[in-house]
Amino acid sequence: MGSKENSSSIKSLDKLKSLLWASPGRIVLITHFNPDGDAVGSTLALQKCLIKAGHDCSVVTPNDFPSFLKWLPGAESIIILPGNENKVAELIRSSDLVFFMDFNDIRRMRGISEPVSRSPAFKVLIDHHPDPLVEVDCMLSDTTVSSTAELVYRFMTQVSLKEKMDKDIAVCLFAGIMTDTGCFSYNSSSPETFKIVADLLLYGIEKDSIYDKIYDNYSAYRMRLLGFCLNERMEYLPDYRTALIWLNLKDQEKYNFQTGDSEGFVNYPLSIKGIRFSAFFIEKEDHVKISLRSKGKFPVNTFSAEHFNGGGHLNAAGGESYESLETTLGKFRDLLPRYQDELNDYDE
Ligand code: 5GP
Ligand code: MN
Repeated sequence: MGSKENSSSIKSLDKLKSLLWASPGRIVLITHFNPDGDAVGSTLALQKCLIKAGHDCSVVTPNDFPSFLKWLPGAESIIILPGNENKVAELIRSSDLVFFMDFNDIRRMRGISEPVSRSPAFKVLIDHHPDPLVEVDCMLSDTTVSSTAELVYRFMTQVSLKEKMDKDIAVCLFAGIMTDTGCFSYNSSSPETFKIVADLLLYGIEKDSIYDKIYDNYSAYRMRLLGFCLNERMEYLPDYRTALIWLNLKDQEKYNFQTGDSEGFVNYPLSIKGIRFSAFFIEKEDHVKISLRSKGKFPVNTFSAEHFNGGGHLNAAGGESYESLETTLGKFRDLLPRYQDELNDYDE
């Protein structure tokens, strides 16, 4: 970041701080489509902090979020767009401040982007994805941090709201950091992340119980679906150091599929020796959702942006296809030879 950008982002942070301290405001916090643990955790934490600071603050999401996040303190107050379109439009219309949480591209807000585009509110981005494509008045974007939750912790200090930290806020932030680092297995080499976690523990959070509620909270159907995917739907392509898994609508019906049931499936192939690129394709009513993961320097975010209308981080990205599942899988397989050298050029 150049010094000019730096000074302007500090200036806008000062402006934001003065807005937050001037008088009670109406604030809306928005997550990305398919909100994950970091999106929901960081947003609920910020909501609680802003409410304690005297603001009227709502959280809205473009679609539903997984049941393993519904126990998070405050999750019941989240307004999910489908079915609440008028309410969301009115909240945004009358808001003084809007926060974009955990995404770098306006399109990831889906149906919420339309009322937002008409809103004169002061807009803030808090995010850790590269190359933000969002016009805001204040941008808190840092790709070096583990998670948006970590940025919310930092933000609370920057705007002098750290004193509002309590156990519930700490639980939400810990859930965000834990899920976005795969339980501290990636994105978590910075000592700062552990300093923050150490501080959160001081608020009395029970970290083992948070783990249990998020990761040991699946239905028997989901476990059988995972077994089925690994057995019947995984393709191992060692020449390209790649493995993929796919799931069609029929499979989902058979295993009583619920939102969030396939969370984490994309990570399994990466535990096969030598595999460094993993893809998961799930058929939806009108499109195919794609999740991509890599190890090392293969950039799944640019791969996704170039071929599957998506983006994300270097090692974790997602995208979409509006072709059939078969065509999408064919396209993916056909692309691999182009990347063969890159995928095999890797220091063990
Ligand atoms: P997941 O595979 O868990 O859905 O997403 C992994 C990462 O990619 C997350 O950081 C998420 O924000 C990003 N991502 C997932 N889907 C999309 C998408 O359709 N477009 C973009 N730009 N990013 C995505
Ligand atoms: Mn995140």
